Amino acid sequence: MNPIHPPRRYLMGPGPSPVEPSVLAAMAKPVLGHLDPAFISIMDETSAALREVFQTTNQLTFPVSGTGSAGAEAAVVNMVEPGDRVVVGVCGVFGARLAEMCRRAGGVVTEVQAPWGQPVPTEQIAEAVKKRGAKVVGIVHAETSTGVRQPVEEIRQAIGDDPILIVDAVTSLGGIEVDVDSWGIDVCFSGTQKCLSVPPGLAPITFSPRAEWKLETRSTPVQSWYLDAKLLRSYWEDGEVRRAYHHTAPISMIYGLHEGLRIVLNEGLDARWARHHDAGRFLRNALAERGFEMIAADGYRLPQLTAVRLPKGVEDGLRAALLHEFDIEVGGGLGEFAGKAWRIGLMGLGARRDHALRLIQALDALM
Ligand code: PLP
Repeated sequence: MNPIHPPRRYLMGPGPSPVEPSVLAAMAKPVLGHLDPAFISIMDETSAALREVFQTTNQLTFPVSGTGSAGAEAAVVNMVEPGDRVVVGVCGVFGARLAEMCRRAGGVVTEVQAPWGQPVPTEQIAEAVKKRGAKVVGIVHAETSTGVRQPVEEIRQAIGDDPILIVDAVTSLGGIEVDVDSWGIDVCFSGTQKCLSVPPGLAPITFSPRAEWKLETRSTPVQSWYLDAKLLRSYWEDGEVRRAYHHTAPISMIYGLHEGLRIVLNEGLDARWARHHDAGRFLRNALAERGFEMIAADGYRLPQLTAVRLPKGVEDGLRAALLHEFDIEVGGGLGEFAGKAWRIGLMGLGARRDHALRLIQALDALM
């Protein structure tokens, strides 16, 4: 075997996003034992930084070992007990996955569907919750298959205080506003490889005190031992508690996340969101001038993920030319948009006009 030499790419797909060199440098630092006091203080700083980024005071806030899907599974298996009535908003691939996870956890799921490109109407979610007496509601904040922003901030008021509200913030955290406490979210999960600009491998998650209460009062044990938040709490909870071994924490990934969060907080959340908005608007305008049609409805477009229908004469195969001739990665369509659409990400470090311009210039050369 020889050492690997991956090519340098401009990552403008739906994730992973470009990674800051200092994040990669942090990941190359000496590996510590996962119960070493020096590592525990790094863990505590990481949790504290996650609370700031999620805008929450939730004590139980930590990165799940695994990608965004592990965060989704952790949210679902801890909150959904067999027989629980669950309402999930579905307007793309990731809403459908969340619904499937809830079914697999034994939930009796009602899907509230919306056409791809539109958000799920808040009133329809509220109606379904009332009609079904749902205990849990699941929704995707940034639907990466369509580039739609779901107005999550409206949901709590519409569904009332009782249901547990689970929010997928995989593509939103660090790119657009996510305000866990003010929006009344009970469980919010994300992924490191999108707007946080850290390699894939961890899924930040936060549980509200109500979610912890639901955990305490479950009548059945959580089906997944690995993702059981009560067991994980014994390792992640800071304060006086003695840390107990649950599984070996992915040390180097946590170093990377620590550095990524440090960069996010030094930039400031408002400034970071504004940067994503600026880059997204610049890209949308340039694509529209070239005949690409936005999939997401006006008013609900994510700046960090632009999904477009291809203009006449442009084939999906052009993505291969972008990759091989210009080292630019953009994503293809998912589900009903497979082969017909592109998904262009300007996330984290990549949320800049000069990145967008690089893609536009390459397209002009190829089209
Ligand atoms: N949810 C959303 C909205 C996503 O965009 C993704 C990944 O693209 C996931 C969940 C799953 O995350 P992962 O691929 O990191 O497991």
